[in-house]
Amino acid sequence: MIIKQNVSLLAYNTFKIDATAKVLAIIENLPDLETLCNPPYSTIFPRLFMGGGSNLLFTHNYEGIIVHSQIKGIEKVFESESETWLKAGSGIIWDDFVAYCVKLGLGGVENLSDIPGCVGSAPVQNIGAYGMEAKDTIVEVQCHNLATNETLVLKNSECQFGYRDSIFKTPGFRNCFITHVTFCLKKQYEAVSHYGTIEQELEKFADRSVRSVRRAVINIRRNKLPPAELGSAGSFFKNPVVGNEKYAALLENYPEMPVYKLTEGEYKIPAAWLIEKAGLKGIKHNNAGTYIKQPLVIVNYGKASGKEIADFSYFIRQKVYEQFKIMLEPEVNFV
Ligand SMILES: Cc1cc2nc3c(=O)[nH]c(=O)nc-3n(C[C@H](O)[C@H](O)[C@H](O)COP(=O)(O)OP(=O)(O)OC[C@H]3O[C@@H](n4cnc5c(N)ncnc54)[C@H](O)[C@@H]3O)c2cc1C
Repeated sequence: MIIKQNVSLLAYNTFKIDATAKVLAIIENLPDLETLCNPPYSTIFPRLFMGGGSNLLFTHNYEGIIVHSQIKGIEKVFESESETWLKAGSGIIWDDFVAYCVKLGLGGVENLSDIPGCVGSAPVQNIGAYGMEAKDTIVEVQCHNLATNETLVLKNSECQFGYRDSIFKTPGFRNCFITHVTFCLKKQYEAVSHYGTIEQELEKFADRSVRSVRRAVINIRRNKLPPAELGSAGSFFKNPVVGNEKYAALLENYPEMPVYKLTEGEYKIPAAWLIEKAGLKGIKHNNAGTYIKQPLVIVNYGKASGKEIADFSYFIRQKVYEQFKIMLEPEVNFV
């Protein structure tokens, strides 16, 4: 285990916020986690688990201990004619895992290509993109409870997966550090291309293989999202879901409004559209702004503090609320 004290988090978060952590524990295996269950580490609070820091906004210096996974390794744990199950360490870079699956010709995570972060965070947020979510392939999640020094394994059905949500965000799992995630990948592959512009992008390729879909997704994302030099955490807000009454009222004023019908009585409205319609696309307040090509992304245009980004996000929420009476909910975790 590597322990660092009073360490800058600049290299550990994609928003490029220059906050510090009192203690940073970099763990590589189960014995490292067991060490954290004993003094002096077990007495240091607050405690935060961190992967690639691509969904965190540090609004102040962190006065406790941050636990960062460097647990590596991918193991085949089951194989049949149609499926391969891979168990991956939480510290593996998510996109390296996707590339690994695609190289083997396995389907199930290719639409999630190019999402920053680590494997261990994928179930926490139930990451999703282009019609696919992590929950669709996750078999089970293994974690270590730092309060009880016990390892537990949760089956997919026990993870309470929802839209950018899971049991790992609930207070009961606050001490559970994810060590491994097992995925079920498909050998027989059919492109999932109904969402966004994937179908159009796929037409540029000679086939509809898992490799082509990955390439198509990467092309679309690189065209739309800010380059890594600009700090961001991807989509800052969740897409709001409204009921029948609200949907009908919105449609009356905005007949052109795009919408994804989830169920009878549940409609997902793109938050990006609401922000753009409120005249907030590409605006800038000092070092914080909405990205010109994708207003759902808040960017750090310079050396913005976490508080500056947070204040800017409140401004966006307020303006969207004034116009649509919808309060956007952040997808990003404020620390
Ligand atoms: C440019 C850009 C594009 C993005 N695009 C997408 C997208 O298309 N779809 C999408 O869903 N997300 C997207 N994101 C958001 C982000 O990449 C994902 O949420 C990702 O899964 C976060 O991974 P991370 O390792 O960086 O997690 P972190 O930001 O480090 O942590 C995220 C959450 O997971 C918890 N956590 C981390 N590791 C562990 C662990 N081992 N055990 C328990 N809890 C843990 C943290 O405490 C925190 O609550 C994007 C971000 C950026 C910067």
